Amino acid sequence: MRIHVVDHPLVAHKLTTLRDERTDSPTFRRLADELVTLLAYEATRDVRVDQVEVRTPVAATTGVKLSYPRPLVVPILRAGLGMLDGMVRLLPTAEVGFLGMIRDEGTLQPSTYATRMPDDLTGRQAYVLDPMLATGGTLVASTQLLIDRGAADVTAICLLAAPEGVALMQEAFKDAPVPVTVVTASVDERLNEHGYIVPGLGDAGDRLYGTA
Ligand code: URA
Repeated sequence: MRIHVVDHPLVAHKLTTLRDERTDSPTFRRLADELVTLLAYEATRDVRVDQVEVRTPVAATTGVKLSYPRPLVVPILRAGLGMLDGMVRLLPTAEVGFLGMIRDEGTLQPSTYATRMPDDLTGRQAYVLDPMLATGGTLVASTQLLIDRGAADVTAICLLAAPEGVALMQEAFKDAPVPVTVVTASVDERLNEHGYIVPGLGDAGDRLYGTA
C-alpha cells in the first residue's frame, strides 16, 4: 500500500482552519469540500485516459479523455458524504456508489449495513471517501469489499490519518492483488483512548452536519 501525504501550502492552510474548534459547520463544510478537490487532484494522477483526436478552431491535434468504464467514487456513510461534492467537481462523469459501515461495539469488527454499487467492479478504478483514517477498520473493510468485487485499483481519500490506521492498511494490503493508495492532508500523532485522532479535528460527522 502506498501513502501519499499532500504537501501544499493551500492544503495546510485549509486543514488548519478545519482543525480550529471555532470553525462553524457551514465554514467547515465549505473548507472540507475545497480540501477534497485539492486532494482529489493528487489522487487522480493515475486515472485512466484514452488518446483522442480533437479539432480546435485552428488545427487537428491529439488529447485525452477519461477511459470507460468510468471511475467509481464511493463515499463511506455518513461523514464521507461531506466529501462527495468536492470529488465529483473534479470527476463529474464518475459513477457514485454508497457504502454504509458500522462498527460492532462488542467485537469491534466493522460490518456493512448499506451497499449501493455495482456487484461487478471488474476493471473499475475506485475512489473511497472517508474523512478520518483512525483505527483503519472501516477503510480496510471497504477497500477489501471493492477488491473482492474486482476493482482494478483502490484509492482512499482521507482528510486526516492516524499512524495506527495507516499501519493497519499497510498490513492488510501488503500483498494486495491490485494497487491500494491512501491520499491524505496529514498523518497526525496518534489516536487517543476514545479512538479520536490527536490533534485531529474532532468528530468529522458532527462538525460537518452540526449534530452532537
Ligand atoms: N472519526 C472522527 O470523526 N474523528 C476522529 O478523530 C476519529 C474518527
